[in-house]
Amino acid sequence: MAFKSGFIAILGKPNVGKSTLLNTILGQKICIVSAKPNLTRKKILGIKNMADAQLIFIDTPGIHLARGLLNKYLVKQAVDSWRDADVVLFIAEAHTPPAEADRFALTTIKDISRPSLLVLNKIDLAGEDYLPQYESLFSFSDSVKISALTGFGIPGLLEMVAARLPDGPQYFPEEMVTNEIERSLVAEIVREKVFELLHEEVPYAVAVLVDEFSEKTDKRITYIAATIFVEKESQKGIVIGKGGALLKQIGQLSRAEIEELIGERVFLQLWVKVEKNWRKEPASLRRLGFV
Ligand code: GDP
Ligand code: MG
Repeated sequence: MAFKSGFIAILGKPNVGKSTLLNTILGQKICIVSAKPNLTRKKILGIKNMADAQLIFIDTPGIHLARGLLNKYLVKQAVDSWRDADVVLFIAEAHTPPAEADRFALTTIKDISRPSLLVLNKIDLAGEDYLPQYESLFSFSDSVKISALTGFGIPGLLEMVAARLPDGPQYFPEEMVTNEIERSLVAEIVREKVFELLHEEVPYAVAVLVDEFSEKTDKRITYIAATIFVEKESQKGIVIGKGGALLKQIGQLSRAEIEELIGERVFLQLWVKVEKNWRKEPASLRRLGFV
């Protein structure tokens, strides 16, 4: 049989278990699982290497009824990510009946001619079986019941996805994958802390790039240097804070989470730089990993 590879987009309203599912599939904490919905703003690639397939997952922001501008942006980002996908997974909770948000999410893929799988999660929780109701919402290619938490049904889901991918090469060599993912996770964590500690306009003008990620084996400490990019001098001042207090707090919170993620002691050095209008400059966007 030919080798299969391709991109898989995960669609579903907040809290149905998308991040948990990716973590279980990839065997480590890859994307940020959070009690706070809509925290995952940038799409993160998670890659599952199988004997005869490479599955490249795209984590998308939780889709929901868009009101504000940012919400509209998040929805657009999500929709864009499944335009590029070869297979779309629609995740919902097995024990909860379809809601308005599920119908809304499904309308966003109605014109996309990709195989779409209905994945009913959390079947470890007792409850009524809402499979028929979900199936009646959309013409799914297939359906499967899983528990992202216990791992039940995951091997079957992976086989189901692999079978629907096109023939293709192994796009990413295996070692590279982990390294790139760790870097993007660190950037995501730092960005998330800025997002949590600052309000209003500044967080959306922030991008984070990891400059160095090196293991100092003798000291058993990982040295990480990252730059927080902002658009204006005034934003730089805000991110640094009085006497550097805010940047210090961003660093402390990030370090704790990164240490938990990689299971090692971390020395984290953060820099703040102004890159004028990076959100509008294609070259800056490329360098910061957005395109
Ligand atoms: P996301 O917003 O769709 O990414 O959802 P998360 O992955 O962040 O999960 C939301 C919550 O549901 C978390 O508290 C998870 O622990 C929980 N959860 C996810 N999958 C399962 C599952 O299979 N069973 C149970 N009982 N809880 C789950
Ligand atoms: Mg999530």
